Amino acid sequence: MRSVAEVVLKHIHKVYDGGVVAVQDLSFEVQDKEFLVLVGPSGCGKSTLLRMIAGLEEITSGDLFIDGKRCNDVAPKDRDIAMVFQNYALYPHMTVEENLAFGLKLRKLPKDEIRRRVGEAAEMLGITAYLSRKPKALSGGQRQRVALGRAIVRKPKVFLFDEPLSNLDAKMRVQMRVEISRLSGQLQTTMIYVTHDQTEAMTMGHRIVCMKDGVIQQYGTPMELYKHPTNKFVAGFIGMPPMNFLPCEWNGESLAITGAGATGVYATDFKTHPAAKPILGVRPEHLRLERMANDGGKGEARAGIAAEVEVVEPLGAETLVYCRAGQHRAVARIHPDMLVGRGDRVTLIPDAAHLHFFDA
Ligand code: ADP
Repeated sequence: MRSVAEVVLKHIHKVYDGGVVAVQDLSFEVQDKEFLVLVGPSGCGKSTLLRMIAGLEEITSGDLFIDGKRCNDVAPKDRDIAMVFQNYALYPHMTVEENLAFGLKLRKLPKDEIRRRVGEAAEMLGITAYLSRKPKALSGGQRQRVALGRAIVRKPKVFLFDEPLSNLDAKMRVQMRVEISRLSGQLQTTMIYVTHDQTEAMTMGHRIVCMKDGVIQQYGTPMELYKHPTNKFVAGFIGMPPMNFLPCEWNGESLAITGAGATGVYATDFKTHPAAKPILGVRPEHLRLERMANDGGKGEARAGIAAEVEVVEPLGAETLVYCRAGQHRAVARIHPDMLVGRGDRVTLIPDAAHLHFFDA
């Protein structure tokens, strides 16, 4: 019978020698079979956290439970965890097959069992044809598959991934991203995945822990973080292109974008009352763009932000329009059939149902 591979962290702190505080008071739970992504900018403490779960780094204070058992002082090899690294960490002098079998031989598993597990993993990853090759005769994507295979053959309780795709080119990254998600569905094992890439976090995670400076900023499903970011950091970190931020002044009735000129004023019925000087956050898909020329004849002032188009990026399925409004810049995501060009004067109309306000 397989055990329940829950990972629970309670008030974890890590202070390195020399007093560097790498993570502070981290508490969260990874459920059995869950794919949890730890995301945040470089230096926020993601790798430190992963290494503490793996047992490669000492926990300064707090408790780590794996499968209900307190593991702070359990040796790495006894934690039943497999880790996949960014640099693959393959043995260069061994063939792919030997690399896959190595950990199992150390554990003195029977030869038949080793052969069966290696065959299964190779099949699952599509590397059966390369079993007799050495790592240097493989592409980056193939090497990363072997590194994954080496973790899979061990049948661990928990998989840990430390930025496994960062050494791959953009196209291979997308392919491996899908592959790891597929494997996670197939293997039904608890996975904890570290990345600085918000796209990987959004697309792969069942839940995301978003970190900054060693502190959790938000913990939830990808869409919770996207739709209801708890602060400006999460709002700006999750989503590509990032959310637009426009400093405003709110007089109780209308909102004026600071420094965008008189045309930047627009009134709207807010559900929540913003602070006196809030920062308005609006995602590119929630900025409607209208060309001024189309509105001119109507003789009515449009509620919106007057702006000038600086750059147009047609991406095929959508077009990104980078605009300048007074001293601010904002990007709108529009339908590819809409014709706009550099230098066009436009009105950006924030969708009142999707506004975010942050304290300045
Ligand atoms: P991330 O993985 O998010 O880039 P890290 O966990 O590697 O972040 O680092 C978190 C913080 O801890 C950083 O300020 C880093 O400089 C510091 N740090 C990491 N490893 C050590 C170490 N061995 N000794 C001292 N400080 C360290």
